[in-house]
Amino acid sequence: MSRIAYVNGQYVRHAQAAVHVEDRGYQFADAVYEVWGVIDGELTDFEGHLKRLARSLKELQIRKPLSDAALTAILQRIVAVNRIRYGLIYLQISRGVARRDHVFPPDSVPPSIVITARSANANAAESRAQRGIAVITRPDQRWARRDIKTVSLLPNALAKQAARAEGAAECWMIDRDGMITEGAAANAWIITADGVLVTRAADHDILNGITRRIIFELAEKQGLATEERPFSRDEALRAREAFITSATSFLTPVVRIDSQPVGNGHPGSFSLMLRERYVATAKDRSKAPAMRQPVWLVARRSKHLQN
Ligand code: PLP
Repeated sequence: MSRIAYVNGQYVRHAQAAVHVEDRGYQFADAVYEVWGVIDGELTDFEGHLKRLARSLKELQIRKPLSDAALTAILQRIVAVNRIRYGLIYLQISRGVARRDHVFPPDSVPPSIVITARSANANAAESRAQRGIAVITRPDQRWARRDIKTVSLLPNALAKQAARAEGAAECWMIDRDGMITEGAAANAWIITADGVLVTRAADHDILNGITRRIIFELAEKQGLATEERPFSRDEALRAREAFITSATSFLTPVVRIDSQPVGNGHPGSFSLMLRERYVATAKDRSKAPAMRQPVWLVARRSKHLQN
C-alpha cells in the first residue's frame, strides 16, 4: 500500500508530494508544525495539539488555512487511508508561496498546508523505554521563542546528530545559566532524590509539550510532588530518575547523562509507572468532540465553519 499525503487540498502519493521551491517554509523556515502520536488508530491528545497549532500560527501572524472541523476530518482521513495503528501524523503550515522577499507576502497569498503519516514499531518503542536511553548535553543555541513550534530546527538537528555520534538518543540543551532547557525533540524531567518530579516551567525558553502537560496531571493524580523550575546537569546526575516526554516517544526513561549513570543506571519505577498510565489513558484523551461525529458530517459542517 502506498503512503498518502495531503498537500494544499489534495490527497497525493507520498512519493509525489511536493511544495513549490519558493514556499516560505523552504526558504525562510517561515512555517509551524504539529505532531500527533497515534495509538490504536487514534490521534492522541488531539485537542491539545490543535490548540497549540492555533497559538503558533497566531504568534507568527500566519492565517489559519482551515477550520478545526475541516482539519479534523482531513487528519482522521490521513490516519485511515494510511492505516496507521501506531505511529505519527505530521502537519506543517507555512506562510505560503511568494517571490523571495523577507517581508510577508500580501494576505491574498494562501498558507501552504502539508500532512504526512508514518507508522512506527510499538514493540521497538516499548523495549527502548524498558531499557532506557542515554542523553548528552550541549549549549542551547536556539532563538528566544522556543515556545513557538516552528520548523526552524537546525540547532535541534545538530544537537540530535551530536547525540547520535556519541551513541546517545537525545541531547539535553543547556542555557547560559547552566540550566537544562529541554531535549532536541522532547521535554526533560527528573525525579529528585526526595521524590519530587521536576521540569522547567513553560515560558519562552521551551516548547510547552502537550505530553508534558498530561504527564504533569497524571503525576499529580498519583500523588507525586511536582515542581516547575529549571534544573542543572549536576542536579540531574544526582536525581533518582530522569526521563523525556514527547508525542511520539510518550515517556522514555533516561539512564545515562554524558555517559554517567542516573540513579542506579536503570529506568526508574515512577517513570515506567507514568509511561504505563500515559499509554493506558491515551484512548480516553484521543477523541476530540469534533472527532466523535462521523467524518461526512464534519466535512459538511466545515464548509460553514471556515475561520
Ligand atoms: N520540546 C521540543 C523541542 C520538541 O520538539 C518536542 C516535540 O517535538 C517537545 C518538546 C515535546 O512536545 P510534545 O509533547 O507536544 O510532543
